[in-house]
Formats: sequence, C-alpha cells, structure tokens
Amino acid sequence: MNGGVNGSVTGCLNKRAEGGASGRVIFVGAGPGSADLITVRGARRLGEADVVLFDALTDPALRELAPQALWIDVGKRGFCDSTPQASIDALLVRMATEHAVVVRLKGGDPSVFGRLEEELLALAAAGIACEIVPGVTAAIAAAADSQRPLTRRGRGRSVSLTTAVSEDSVLRGARHADTEVFYMAGRQLGKLGRALRAAGWAEDAPVCVVSRAGWPDSLSSEHALSELAAAAVLHAGRPAVVTVGAGAVKVGIAAARGGAGAIGAAPRQKPMGVYRSAAELHCAAT
Ligand code: SAH
Repeated sequence: MNGGVNGSVTGCLNKRAEGGASGRVIFVGAGPGSADLITVRGARRLGEADVVLFDALTDPALRELAPQALWIDVGKRGFCDSTPQASIDALLVRMATEHAVVVRLKGGDPSVFGRLEEELLALAAAGIACEIVPGVTAAIAAAADSQRPLTRRGRGRSVSLTTAVSEDSVLRGARHADTEVFYMAGRQLGKLGRALRAAGWAEDAPVCVVSRAGWPDSLSSEHALSELAAAAVLHAGRPAVVTVGAGAVKVGIAAARGGAGAIGAAPRQKPMGVYRSAAELHCAAT
C-alpha cells in the first residue's frame, strides 16, 4: 500500500492502469557528449529496447548499443525546439502501445531542461509504466572538461542550473547561487552578459564557457563578465553552458599546492586492495 503522499504520486506515474497499454517507456540520459558518457544502466536498457526515440544532441554511436531497435529521430535540431512537444508526447504513447520496451533517449540528464514533465504526464494519462535512468548533465561535464569544481570549500556552497531563455523567449540573467550555470544561452552571450550584470553580478565576475562538453573537441574559455560577448565567436554554432561565480574560477597553483601530499612522488609499488583511509594507503605504499 502506498500510504504516504510521495508514494501515491510515484505510484500514479509508474504503475500501468488496469487494461492500459502493453509497453513501458524508459527515459535514458545519454550524457552530453560521446557515447561512453552514458551510464552502465542506460546502456543495458538500450540493449533491451524495441524502439528508441532520440534527440538530436545524442551521439549516433549509441546506436551500436541497440542495433536490434527501431531508431526514431524526434530531433530538436541544433539546440532549439523544432519538433512540437505534443507530437513527441503522442508518438511516445503510440510506440508504447505497439512495442514492449520503448527507450526515450535524451541528451544529458532527462530531468534537466529535457521536457520530461510533459512526457511523464502524457504517459501517466495513458496509463503507461515508466522508468528514468539518470545521465550526466552538461553542467557537470563542463566542470570536468574545464577542471573547475562547481562547489568550493567555503566559497562555493550552492549551485544553480538555470535556463537563460524563458517560456516567453526572453533572455534573463539571475543570481541565485554562488555558482550559476546557464543552459541555452550559447547564441546570445553578449545579451546574457548584460542580463547578468543587471541581476547583480559584478563586471569582473569570473565566467567560464564550455561548448561541446564531453566530446573530444570540447572547448573551454574564461572571461570577465564584462567581456562575455567575446566568447560568441569562439563557441559559435556549438551547444554551450556558461558558468558564473565561484565554480568558474580556475583552480589556482596555491590550491594545488595545498594538496601536494597527494600529488607527490608515486608509491614504490602499486598498492592493491581496499584501504580505509588515505593514511593507511600511505603507510602501505611507503
Ligand atoms: N538535458 C540536457 C540539457 C538539454 S537543454 C542536459 O542535462 O545536459 C540544451 C542545452 O544544454 C544547450 O542549449 C546547451 O546549453 C546545453 N548542452 C547540451 N549539450 C551540451 C554540451 N555537450 N556542452 C555544453 N552544453 C551543452
């Protein structure tokens, strides 16, 4: 029995209604870049798929994980919406009534700016069971590629993922957190810079732009906020995220020295097994 409020909401979305459709839908986060950024669970689910509905920004190499499936491009071309969301919702429901396992493959993580809510609602209304497999979102891949941690001890205690473009297509800046990561602003970096200054960020606030994060040709650049417009040419035509604040600051030499113990000479022999602490590993290796 689902007694709690949370239990009843989840149950409603995940259980198939009596006499409902025959298939189930698995939302899989593909990660933002190369095929090898998908999770092991996501790769397994692709292997079970009869049909895969995929977005434009997913790596075509992922097809090798589901050669048995019918692949349907529900492409949002480039990084703007071109297939109406209602058509995708309807196709998803139709596919689930005709096939046992439908994978809905989304770039990055399905829960982050992925129109997941609409698709979940359409499936719930049709009584179709579903599962969500998380993925690496672009902000996380960008932090990895630029080697700029999103949180910093003492200075970066909060992170906000924000879309620069609102429902009414107006570009908006914001200052919600120590580190703010903006999606969907790649084409309007100059405008975003001005909007961020209006939202309270200083002219010299650090900004890092990463385009095609997670791909071999990923590109990172750093700027003062007042010079963000200059990044437009560098990242033109490539999906990009813009990180502002604590998480945009390059990890300094001084900070690296702070961890010098870990960077020092390699252990004489390769330590094996499980150690309960770094100190224990150090003892074993020296
Ligand atoms: N669900 C996706 C986001 C989809 S919205 C995720 O979790 O990553 C599309 C926006 O994501 C793009 O406009 C861009 O801002 C960002 N994006 C997607 N792929 C990217 C990549 N490889 N590198 C940088 N930004 C990316």
